[in-house]
Amino acid sequence: MTVKVRFAPSPTGYLHAGNVRTAIVNWLFARKMGGHFLLRIDDTDLERSKPEYTLGIEEDMRWLGLLWDSEEHQSTRLERYRLAADALVKQGRLYACYETPEELDVQRKMQASRGLPPIYNRAALKLTDEQKTPFEKQGRRPHYRFLLQDEEIVWEDLIRGRVAMRATTMSDPVLLREDGAPVYTLASVVDDGELAVTHVIRGEDHVSNAAVQVQLYKALGFAVPQFAHMALLKTKDGELSKRIGGNDIRSLRAAGMLPMAVISLLGRIGTSDAALPYSDFQPLIDSFDFGKFGRAPANYDVAELEKINEKILHQLPFSAVSQSLNGIDEPFWLSIRANIKKLDDVRQWWDILNESVVADLNADEWGFIHSVSGLLPPAPWDEATWDAWLAAIKPTTPRKGKELFMPLRLALTGREHGPELKKLLPLLGREQVMQRLGKGQ
Ligand code: GLU
Repeated sequence: MTVKVRFAPSPTGYLHAGNVRTAIVNWLFARKMGGHFLLRIDDTDLERSKPEYTLGIEEDMRWLGLLWDSEEHQSTRLERYRLAADALVKQGRLYACYETPEELDVQRKMQASRGLPPIYNRAALKLTDEQKTPFEKQGRRPHYRFLLQDEEIVWEDLIRGRVAMRATTMSDPVLLREDGAPVYTLASVVDDGELAVTHVIRGEDHVSNAAVQVQLYKALGFAVPQFAHMALLKTKDGELSKRIGGNDIRSLRAAGMLPMAVISLLGRIGTSDAALPYSDFQPLIDSFDFGKFGRAPANYDVAELEKINEKILHQLPFSAVSQSLNGIDEPFWLSIRANIKKLDDVRQWWDILNESVVADLNADEWGFIHSVSGLLPPAPWDEATWDAWLAAIKPTTPRKGKELFMPLRLALTGREHGPELKKLLPLLGREQVMQRLGKGQ
C-alpha cells in the first residue's frame, strides 16, 4: 500500500513554526516511504479563510522546498461533505438539534453546579417530529450532531502508543452548522477517506478529534488511517517577536534565515536526534523514525535557529547563493562566508571592501599606522601576508594584542569586528591597503 499523507493548514494566517513543523514531518515521512504528500487547504471557514493566506502558504512551502504531489481545497468539495452527512442521517448517526448557544450555555452551567461534566445531554435525540415543527415555524435552523457510540475508542498511535478514550466522556460533536456548513471534523474525515490518506500526522491538540474521527471513518465505511500525534512546541514567551520579529515563516525569511536552517531545526525538534546544520534533506529523510519522537513538549528557540543558520551559511558553496548575491564573485564569497551570520551580511562586507572607509582614530593611533604601513610585504598577497606583516611590526612597537591590531582593523574596515585580517588583506590588495593606511595625515 502506498503511503499517502496530508498537510492540512487552515488559510486563516501564514505558516508559522508550529504548523511548518507538521508540514516538514509529513513531508519527510512521505519521502522516506516513497509516498505521496498532499497539500490540503482547509478553507471551509469562509469568514476567516483568505485567498492571500492560501497563496502565502503555497509560496512559503515552495521557498522551504516542501513540494507537494497534489493539492485539494475543501471549499471545492462541499458537495462531498453534504453527501456524507446525508448518509449519516440515513444511518441515524447524525441528528438535528435546535438549541441556541444561550440554551446550551445554561445547560452547561446547570451541569457545573451539580458537579457534572459539560457533556451534551442528547435532548434533541428524543425530539419527535411534532416537537420539531414549532422550532421550524419559529425559523430556527437545526445544527447536526454525530451520535457517538458508547464504547472505548482505541488506536495505536505511532508516537503516543496505545491511546484509549471512552466515548461517554465526550459530547456528540456538531458536524453541520446551522447554515449547513460542514465542520472541520466531518470535512477532514471525508477527505482522508475519499483521497485514501494512510497516515494522519499532526499536533497532539487533535487527539480528542481523533477519537471522534475514528468512529466517523468507520460510520462512513472508510479504513481508519494510522495516527501520529506530535507533542506541541513551546516557546519562551515574547522572545521570538523581540529577537526576530515573529515566528511566522515570512518573518524568518525576511530576517535572513535559510530554508534549510528552518528544515534542519524543525525536522528534528522534539526527537532524540540532535538538530544539525544540514544543507540538504537527505540525512533528515534517512534518519526519520516516529520512534524517535518524545512525548514532552519541545522547546522552540529562535536563537538555536540562528545558530544552525550560521553553520549552514559557513559551509554553503557559491552555487547555492550566486543567484541571490548578484554582483558578488566566488573568491569573495569563499573568503567572507565564515564571518557572516546572515546572507545579507555579505552585502555589508562587499560595501566595506568596495566603498570608502571612515575610521575613528586618534593622532597617536594614526602615527602607529603610518609607521607600520612601510613594513607591508610586497605583492602578491595571500593568507600568509598578515603574519609576515605582523612579524615585521612587532619588533618596532611596544603595542601588543588588541592595541596593535584594532587600529589596523579600524583603518582597514572602519569596524571593530569582521573577517580575519589575514583573509581581508588579499581581498583588499596592497594598493587599497596602502591607501586606507595612508589616511589621517
Ligand atoms: N486544518 C486543521 C488544522 O490546521 C487540520 C488538522 C488535521 O491535520 O487534521 O489544525
